[in-house]
Amino acid sequence: MASITLDNVVKTYPDGFTAVKGVSLDIADGEFVILVGPSGCGKSTLLRMIVGLEDISDGELRIADEVVNDKAPRDRDLAMVFQNYALYPHLTVYENIAFPLRLAKGEYTDEQIDERVREASRLLELDEHLERKPANLSGGQRQRVAMGRAIVRRAKAFLFDEPLSNLDAKLRGQMRTEIARLQRNLATTTVYVTHDQTEAMTLGDRVAVLRRGELQQVASPRGLYDQP
Ligand code: ADP
Ligand code: ADP
Repeated sequence: MASITLDNVVKTYPDGFTAVKGVSLDIADGEFVILVGPSGCGKSTLLRMIVGLEDISDGELRIADEVVNDKAPRDRDLAMVFQNYALYPHLTVYENIAFPLRLAKGEYTDEQIDERVREASRLLELDEHLERKPANLSGGQRQRVAMGRAIVRRAKAFLFDEPLSNLDAKLRGQMRTEIARLQRNLATTTVYVTHDQTEAMTLGDRVAVLRRGELQQVASPRGLYDQP
């Protein structure tokens, strides 16, 4: 686990457009921060810079107090969960969850992989579905497999990009409870992008509001939504 520090972070795209205009934010070790804001305000850009999929134009990004601006994504050791969970259709649930560990060739023995996959699937209540293929799972189960892949790596932090937006209302409610429970169990530092006010109110320790590439407000969910 690790703190994440954004220090005046800027993103200017090659076409000259500045999508993130100097954002500073201190995310404590184990904290759950929700990132909200209108479409196009720079939420995805910010997440992608943190995880390393997008270069930082200016400013500094620190993970566990280490500057990581020039570190490759795999060396940052963060796990990202997208809304379109991109599971491998030909692999079982077990192999989908094991995939990140198999990718790190030679780093894990089969026994270690097995132990981690079983731990993660217990946490996510997927243990009865390990031999099934993604096509035969519900949307919520598929989303949990995607989260399982983040958990097995024991990443330093989780980054969620609207992970529940493709689910129907009932499933969304269930997954919200699931994510809240996971966060209590793992206490992993989390940045979570959402459009959903209920998610923002119930999941986060703090809510950060982004607008036109600038941080407009950072507050507790109560401070933000219970204002007169
Ligand atoms: P959000 O996730 O909040 O909807 P994004 O981070 O996707 O916002 O986009 C922020 C702004 O950056 C938008 O105006 C978008 O058009 C622009 N943008 C995103 N990607 C690129 C790119 N590759 N080149 C130029 N502009 C981009
Ligand atoms: P214990 O030490 O009590 O056996 P662990 O902390 O090793 O438990 O693991 C409990 C569960 O939490 C496992 O599923 C593990 O993959 C997960 N886990 C542990 N640490 C992290 C972390 N930093 N990030 C994500 N998942 C983690």
